[in-house]
Formats: sequence, structure tokens, C-alpha cells
Amino acid sequence: MISDTQTLLERRAKLLGPNVSTFYEEPVHLVKGEGVWLWDAQGRRYLDCYNNVPHVGHCHARVVEAIAAQAATLNTHTRYLHEGILDYVEALTDTFAAPLDTAILTCTGSEANDIALRMAQAVTGEMGVIATDHTYHGNTMAVSQLSRTNPPPGGYWDHMAFVAAPDSYRPLGGDDGMAHAQAFANAVQEQIDALAARGHGLSCLIICPYFANEGFPTLEEGWLAPAIDAVRKAGGIVIADEVQPGFGRLGTHFWGHQKAVITPDVVTLGKPMANGHPVGGVVTSPEIMAAFRTSFRYFNTFGGNPVSAAAALATLRVVQEEGLMENAREVGEYARDGLRDLAGRHECIGDVRGSGLFFGAEMVLDRDSKAPATAFTKRVANEMRQEGVLLNFLGIHYNALKIRPPMPFSRENADQLLTTLGRVLSRVPLEP
Ligand code: PMP
Repeated sequence: MISDTQTLLERRAKLLGPNVSTFYEEPVHLVKGEGVWLWDAQGRRYLDCYNNVPHVGHCHARVVEAIAAQAATLNTHTRYLHEGILDYVEALTDTFAAPLDTAILTCTGSEANDIALRMAQAVTGEMGVIATDHTYHGNTMAVSQLSRTNPPPGGYWDHMAFVAAPDSYRPLGGDDGMAHAQAFANAVQEQIDALAARGHGLSCLIICPYFANEGFPTLEEGWLAPAIDAVRKAGGIVIADEVQPGFGRLGTHFWGHQKAVITPDVVTLGKPMANGHPVGGVVTSPEIMAAFRTSFRYFNTFGGNPVSAAAALATLRVVQEEGLMENAREVGEYARDGLRDLAGRHECIGDVRGSGLFFGAEMVLDRDSKAPATAFTKRVANEMRQEGVLLNFLGIHYNALKIRPPMPFSRENADQLLTTLGRVLSRVPLEP
């Protein structure tokens, strides 16, 4: 490890505290980004295949100019009148089907999910929350309760309940398709009953409609319908956390819930929303918004300020006007074909899945047992970093390579990713 890296790690630990996470065994010290490329302090170039934040490409000129122009004119808190937030919310809600046409802008996805939980509380008068057991919805006191991967000290609140995340490669109950969907719905119903037995009514089911943190299983259209029926019958609402799959990334639809063909009551947004400027949001119907704003006197100093609104609007316009969703569909399909070719040569690739520019491969020790190759997958991600291609891994067994590049990713970029991956897979021994 070069000394510059060591010095920065020591300064971080001293100034930011212990346990501040970084990617890779040898963390990358970045100094510059442009399009799909990143440069480190030594001038080495990396292909960014993972960063879900610079959605339209690192330092996209239109977003940079929008931020600079607005910052040079006016930035202030959100209790003055300004068109910026209104122009943005109009443009944003145009991408949703009715009745999802009102929004609150926040600074993070965590805040957005925290508000969504309170919206559910406001409209149902209940507190019970059901989430999947291998997800992440953020870091406020309430939403950190939804992370099974990182249990809160002191344990979970009594009104939080969990169901197993869907896994299309190893479906609950053994069967895939709608049998798997029914098994998931049964698990949701069991948790509704368990909450009731503990004295809690249901306020909501909160899910990522693409199950991004759980390893993005392949689920057919209508797969979520039985679970959603159970939630609505119990009086609860459905929150779709679109922090990862939104803004056209999936190639076929602008939003993950549109691809899953569901109509959530509340949608939460973040990460790619303003290409790196901290903007998150909550989109819902006028009725739910009114219930929330009546129950909670909510205001957010920075959320949707003139500079944030300008950054978010420029990002949205670039996605729409530069055909980036179409690019995601086309290049994503091409890259998945390439991954399937690699699977023909490398037994360790058990499953290739994903949509648009959000895809990956599940790595196994052998295809019959489907035993997860967790340590191997970690090693592959680290070797890819050493070869100048940044990707990561996650999933229920932490054995799914996760690839989520900036949306202008080209076929040529996909070729570099695939060639490098082929080389790394040939070199790294397949070990448990
Ligand atoms: N929801 C999901 C699905 C996320 O992946 C994240 C961040 N990784 C969040 C919410 C929280 O967003 P933020 O870090 O902006 O608070």
C-alpha cells in the first residue's frame, strides 16, 4: 500500500473515527472524474462500473454549469418563494403515473425513507413496518432499524418485522415464478399476523422494487402483486425505495416499480438524483402528502434549495435529452450477453441477471450445489480494482458481482469490463 493511502487512512481514523467504510482492500484515492472515468492521485485511470451517484457521467458539463450558474445567483433555505423547486417537481412527477404527483425534496435517501415511514404512520395511524431481511434503507434512527445486515445496538423495535428477501436463483419453497411470489406473500402475511399478535397494526411494507441490495433477483411482472394485496388488505401502504434503480437505469422503464408493474403509495429517491449533489426525495399522492403535512409540521432547511433544484433538473434533462435510458437498455443487454459468454468458459458464474445498466453475476463454487463463492467474489472485485475496473459485490451471500456504471457507459466500455473480468476469472483460484 503506498504511503499516501496509509496517511489518508490514518487521518480518516483520527478525524472521522474508526470503522469508516471504504471500498477495496487497497482503497482508491480519487482526485478527478469525467464521464465514465476516474483518476487517482498517481494519475492512474479507472473505468467506473459501480458508482450509482454520477448518473449522467462524472462532472457532466450541463450539471456543472447549472450548479455554478445558480450558486452565482442565489442559494438560500427553502422558506422563501422560488421557482426552482417547483419546476423540478413538475418535471420529476411527469415521469410518474397518477396519483404520484406531489413531492418533498430532501438531502439524502435516508431522510426520504424516514419521511415515507412517517407518511405511512400518518395515513394509517399504525406503526407496524415490514421490510426484507437483507436490505439497507439508510441511517436515521428509524430507518437504521430496517437494516438486518447491521443490527442496531439495543435491538429492533417491537413494531419492525422482516421477511426473507426474494432470491430467484434459490427460490423460497424451491419453485420459481408465481409459486415463489406466493411464498413471499405468505411470509408477508405471517409477519402481518405476528405484528398483530404483538399489538401492532400494519402501516407499511417498504421494499426496493428491484431488490438492489439483495442481489437484484429476476422476478416476473406481477410477482409482487400477491404480497401487495396482503398489505393493502391489512390496511397498510406500500413504499418503493427507488434510491438505486430509478432514473432510467433499468433501461426498459424510468422507475423500478414501473418495471415491476406495481403502483406504490410512496416512492423514495436519492443517490443519482442530482449527479452527486446531495438531493433525495419522496413522491406520493396529494392525499398522503396532505395527511403527512397535517400530522407532521415538516420543513427541511436545505432540501430543494435553488442550487439543489438546478442540479436535479439538469440531471433529469440530461437523462431524457441524451437518450440515456435507451443507452442503458442497449449496452446493458450487450454486456449481459458478454457475461453469458464468459459463463460458457467459467464454471464459477452460476447466474447472470439484471436489467439495463444494473446487472451482475452470481459466483458459485459449483453449479449443482450453487454453494456461494463468497471469498472468491471479494477477491475478484479487488483484482478488478487492481486492473483499473471498479465494481463491487453484494447479495444475500455477498457473492453477486454488482455492476452499475454511469449511464453514458458504451459498448467499448463494456468490452473493457468483460475482457478484464475474463482475465481475472482465469487467474483467481476458485476457493471457498
Ligand atoms: N435506500 C437505499 C436502497 C440505499 O441503497 C441507500 C444508500 N446506500 C439509502 C436508502 C440511503 O441513502 P443515503 O445514503 O443518501 O442516506
